[in-house]
Amino acid sequence: MNGRYDVVVVGGGNAALCAALSAHEHNASVLLIERAPLERRGGNSAYTGGGFRMVHHGLETVRSVVPDLTEGEIVNTDFGEYTAAQYLDDLGRVTQYHCDPDLVETLVVNSTDTVQWLYRCGVRFVPRFGRYAFKHEGKFKFFGGTVVEAAGGGRGLVQAEYKAAEKRGIDIAYSTRAVALLRGPRGVEGVRVERNGVEENIHAGAVVLAAGGFEANREWRTRYLGAGWDMAKVRGTRYNTGDGIRMALDAGAQAYGHWSGCHSVSWERYAPDFGDIDRPITDSRNGYPFSLMINAEGRRFVDEGADFRNYTYAKYGRVVLEQPGSYAWHVFDSRVEHLLHDEYRSKGATKVQADTLEELVARMEDVHPVQFLQTVREYNAAIRGDMPFNPNIKDGKCTTGLAINKSNWANPIDKPPYSAYAVTCGITFTFGGLKINTTGHVLDIDDAPLPGLYAAGELVGGIFYFNYPGSSGLMAGSVFGRIAGREAAAHAVGQQSKVA
Ligand SMILES: Cc1cc2nc3c(=O)[nH]c(=O)nc-3n(C[C@H](O)[C@H](O)[C@H](O)COP(=O)(O)OP(=O)(O)OC[C@H]3O[C@@H](n4cnc5c(N)ncnc54)[C@H](O)[C@@H]3O)c2cc1C
Repeated sequence: MNGRYDVVVVGGGNAALCAALSAHEHNASVLLIERAPLERRGGNSAYTGGGFRMVHHGLETVRSVVPDLTEGEIVNTDFGEYTAAQYLDDLGRVTQYHCDPDLVETLVVNSTDTVQWLYRCGVRFVPRFGRYAFKHEGKFKFFGGTVVEAAGGGRGLVQAEYKAAEKRGIDIAYSTRAVALLRGPRGVEGVRVERNGVEENIHAGAVVLAAGGFEANREWRTRYLGAGWDMAKVRGTRYNTGDGIRMALDAGAQAYGHWSGCHSVSWERYAPDFGDIDRPITDSRNGYPFSLMINAEGRRFVDEGADFRNYTYAKYGRVVLEQPGSYAWHVFDSRVEHLLHDEYRSKGATKVQADTLEELVARMEDVHPVQFLQTVREYNAAIRGDMPFNPNIKDGKCTTGLAINKSNWANPIDKPPYSAYAVTCGITFTFGGLKINTTGHVLDIDDAPLPGLYAAGELVGGIFYFNYPGSSGLMAGSVFGRIAGREAAAHAVGQQSKVA
């Protein structure tokens, strides 16, 4: 750290790295401040599967970022297509049409070009086989709009981004926590940081905040998300405690978006309090569309097959949290067990197995046994028998006449051995945050830009409400990080020329 930079970026995840790379590309001297030590750098971004949701037109777009697809992969894969209109529809539908239309349009319109930019920066991509495409009748067919992920997942993504930043001479300060914004006659003029218990000021022409949400702050979770959220497991980093949001609010920024909402999922019931970077997604339990989800009372409480899992998983964590004891079980029979991802087989999974449903529920111990058996009986009897099962499409194989029907993939639970997995709520990231405009500028309470202050990533509000289409977090962080970096550089470099 040399005391003065054109642009200081606060945060060390994907949004921050995109902002830093972009600011540098636009001729700014850049310092990136990461609260975590080097070995834990990368924020939630490092914990991800690395998936990006972008507009694409099948093979042609996929090839632009995965040029080394094999002939076999090309012949045996149907990548489908995901248009801008579909992406906008998905964002509108899952957010119950609360999403900010200008922000989501910016996200969607810039998605493909930004993934291609990341590729030019040195990030390598691979097709998302397995998670977003099941092999059916010999061919992979993608569903749900996510076709690529960073090679090496989230870790591979941030490693490639850090490598690019280091190569370009961007300064990086680890184990350094931004605590306040410096303000002066030109607006935001730098940040106050704390390192090893000592505080110092770093002056800058502009600041980009990309320090994540407040999901790792137990007290803020309870305050803003509500009672019970203190007990949720944090899926990712322990460092996202809302610092960036607080610093900006203190400087007059506007709170925006769904402050009582968050992305949360079914997660291993006895997982540690925070994510483990060496096994980032082994506690995920995303096979529930093929399951019955059962609570302590032995009842179903949600339509497990309402949609593809990437349109429901992010809102079902809350539903589990709301159950008695904040836990549930995913129950399967042997017909679908092969469709479950490796996480279900991981060391530490709370799993019980039995050859009869009576034995199974006895092993579940904390589920009402009589009601459970009745629930399964009623469910099996309510399945329409005339639809074939197909995991790659919303197959319409449903139940009828139940208080809560299952809309797709409703196979009977009758083929032993049976298995059940215990889950609780794992929080991924919070939805509420700061208001920005489409140039990444942070707005004050009158919707006026705060001079010199930009933001990107999880701490931006207004994009996600209630729910989230899978793989749009990295995409949003990349699009707005890139824009914020460019605009911050222009602001800072412009100021320099005024001074000169
Ligand atoms: C297990 C898991 C899987 C996921 N999978 C996907 C996926 O496949 N696709 C997808 O799109 N999204 C996924 N997500 C969501 C995704 O992680 C986020 O949307 C995205 O990474 C947010 O990026 P970010 O840069 O805003 O935040 P982060 O990557 O969390 O970065 C925030 C950074 O700020 C730093 N920081 C915090 N406070 C300070 C401070 N005071 N001073 C300095 N630095 C500070 C943190 O250390 C961290 O480096 C997943 C999340 C998790 C937890």
